[in-house]
Amino acid sequence: MNISDGELMSGILASNGFELVERPEEADVVLVNTCAIRDHAEQRVLGRVAQLNGLKEKNPELLLGVTGCMAQRMGEELVRKVPYVDLVMGPDGYRGLPDALGTIVASKTSGVNGLGAESAHAGPGLVQLEPRKKGKGKGGGLTVLDLDPTEDYEGLELRRTSTVSAWIPIQRGCNHRCTFCIVPYVRGPEKNRNPQAVLDEIRGVSERGITEVTLLGQTVNSYQNGDWDFPRLLRAVARMPGIRRVRFTSPHPNDVTPALVAVMAEEPAVCEQLHLPLQAGNDRTLKRMLRRHTVPEFMEKVEMIRSGVPDIALSTDVIVAFPGETAEEFQDTLSVLREVRFDDAFTYRFSPREGTPATRFPEEDLIPEDEGRARLDELIQLTRGIQRQINQAEVGWVEEVLVENRGREAGFMLGRTRRNKVAVFRGRELQMGSYQTLELTRTTGATFVGSLVGDGSGKEEG
Ligand code: SF4
Repeated sequence: MNISDGELMSGILASNGFELVERPEEADVVLVNTCAIRDHAEQRVLGRVAQLNGLKEKNPELLLGVTGCMAQRMGEELVRKVPYVDLVMGPDGYRGLPDALGTIVASKTSGVNGLGAESAHAGPGLVQLEPRKKGKGKGGGLTVLDLDPTEDYEGLELRRTSTVSAWIPIQRGCNHRCTFCIVPYVRGPEKNRNPQAVLDEIRGVSERGITEVTLLGQTVNSYQNGDWDFPRLLRAVARMPGIRRVRFTSPHPNDVTPALVAVMAEEPAVCEQLHLPLQAGNDRTLKRMLRRHTVPEFMEKVEMIRSGVPDIALSTDVIVAFPGETAEEFQDTLSVLREVRFDDAFTYRFSPREGTPATRFPEEDLIPEDEGRARLDELIQLTRGIQRQINQAEVGWVEEVLVENRGREAGFMLGRTRRNKVAVFRGRELQMGSYQTLELTRTTGATFVGSLVGDGSGKEEG
């Protein structure tokens, strides 16, 4: 979602006369787009922003902004923490980005920070902080933090970073309240885009030669707009001319329905891949997380998906050391992972996020850091071992890959299979975005090494 939001901001700025430069040193405006999901990510942002502030010594006119979920979460606290930041803007503010930058430039010239009522650029959601005294050069900053239920993101041009694959946001925000999660507080309630606008956008990317799209939403499969539910939209996307691969992320297990599985099974363009967040494999923990399903219900969904799409590759998210998780409950999670055997797992130690309900569990429920780390290590060992076994069994398979990039080593290319497995292979300068057939010859555990089948022209792939 953040890559997509970055493309949105670049697009909005490009259509207002800004140019994208390669390096921060060349820029007049630097925006750091942020994630708030974990404390670690936020700490890294603070470090990066401090580093970028060094550029102001050479270029005092440089505007430095922090955008995205961390900006929304911290708001004015962020301005106080890093007073040299000129702009703090949450995810619903991007349409007003050019105006906000214009306002800051005007205020710098006049020596008053923030948005005055008399400003030609005045718009909703722009908040004036303390006036900056002329010449002081520090303190204050413009914050744009209103979550806007009317912002539908329509009519905005994205500036896409890939010529191979496109992220298509179809939904923003979330109606759930998982107790560990900050997303509903920084992105607001669920908003689903107009289906025709989504299809028009995909038609546009297809006309530019992009053949793979990934539909994005916090609980993407709860999408509903008028008569359009997610299975209907997915089928329509899968049938669009020129689209060869469709993925979507992240679904909520509760919204995995027979209708959705039918579309996945019936539409050739829908890839045999699904990221299905488990979070925990114990009912009491799931309840405390407010995930709104039980382990048996999750397993039923896995069963439903696997019977509809037998060769599907499943991945998941798991959080360990959630407050109150006992050693036995953690073992339950490992048992579920052994049973499901996910192809990939994103694993985390619980990170308390201020403002979320999980921070209100009693202190005695908190899992000591060393215990949490030990659980995470055990979890990683298990999930990596399962991944290695699965991938080893796939060595020798012949798979179609979409060429995404050059490999790290000269002469190598990188492609992705329909089941979302990455393979590097020796290839002459193959065209990015072409489809090739590979034999998977070896696995490192997480990724594959393959060799081209055929002449590499991709012509046999049509
Ligand atoms: S479903 Fe839960 S974890 Fe996912 S974004 Fe919504 S609140 Fe967060």
